[in-house]
Amino acid sequence: QAKAAGRNAFCLFSPALQDVIDTRSSLESALRGGLNRAEFQLYYQPQFSLDHGLLGAEALLRWTPEHHPAVSPAVFIPVAEETGLILRLGQWVLHTACEQLVRWAQQPQTRDLKIAINVSARQFHRPDFAARVRSALEATGANPARLQLELTESVVLEKVGEVVERMQQIRQLGVTFSLDDFGTGFSSLSYLKQLPLDQIKIDQSFVRDLISSGNDAAIVRAIIAIGRSLGLQVIAEGVETQDQMVYLTSMDCRAFQGYLLGRPVPMRDWQRAWHDWQHQDAQAG
Ligand code: C2E
Ligand code: MG
Ligand code: MG
Ligand code: MG
Repeated sequence: QAKAAGRNAFCLFSPALQDVIDTRSSLESALRGGLNRAEFQLYYQPQFSLDHGLLGAEALLRWTPEHHPAVSPAVFIPVAEETGLILRLGQWVLHTACEQLVRWAQQPQTRDLKIAINVSARQFHRPDFAARVRSALEATGANPARLQLELTESVVLEKVGEVVERMQQIRQLGVTFSLDDFGTGFSSLSYLKQLPLDQIKIDQSFVRDLISSGNDAAIVRAIIAIGRSLGLQVIAEGVETQDQMVYLTSMDCRAFQGYLLGRPVPMRDWQRAWHDWQHQDAQAG
């Protein structure tokens, strides 16, 4: 999905094939330089559940090249994946998120919050990925139980046996797993039951037209039922309106992420918005 969006974005400003290739390679070198110049940043978007309130955040990568407006990950992640740069980028994301977890661990209000990071297929399939997760946790001292890895169906499409084995290695560290963009890939339900998951995320494309489309509502209802019967937390992403949230709640979805609840923000803004949130909640309740 992100891949398709990235390709389309290129086609928009460079229709000719040669232009596309030029843009791609200049984007690639800009990305490389951006890593060296520390132009990347993590934004954090809150996740909530009806049962536990603020759960934590999904970390979302942002790239702001010097003298340029921010570039969407939908554009640069596919290029980073094709060129292998995603390995360095992903490693940076993993470390930066772990460092944030350590800072959160020092405050009682934020101690229990988790951070979810997106892991690309290429990153996950590296033979040393489990070792890299372990060393990021050890090097930073982050609590593994607060780290969640979001995988998409493209990660688990092939060699399920190997994927399950790797997930189990990482789970033994205490890290949890979420299946992102659920319903947009083609993995079968028999795969789903084999994967050691903790959470599935209903893709925002189903949430968007939930109210107007009976088909989307039916799909969402089915995803919630499957997730619950497998004992997984089900979270809806892309929740933008109160109506969507009410409808999702009526279908027994109990966790949410979306602009309605909070946009992705840099950590300094997060602190302003959410730092005392749990504390206030506890006092109010
Ligand atoms: P995703 O993991 O499915 O993340 C959700 C995307 O939906 C994010 O877009 C988020 O900003 C956006 N979003 C959240 N709430 C709403 C809402 O209410 N309405 C709408 N319309 N959108 C909402 P973003 O940040 O542009 O990221 C796009 C994709 O790029 C992500 O999709 C993920 O697949 C990828 N990505 C982002 N950061 C990373 C990263 O660190 N590593 C890797 N491998 N991929 C990443
Ligand atoms: Mg995600
Ligand atoms: Mg998603
Ligand atoms: Mg997505």
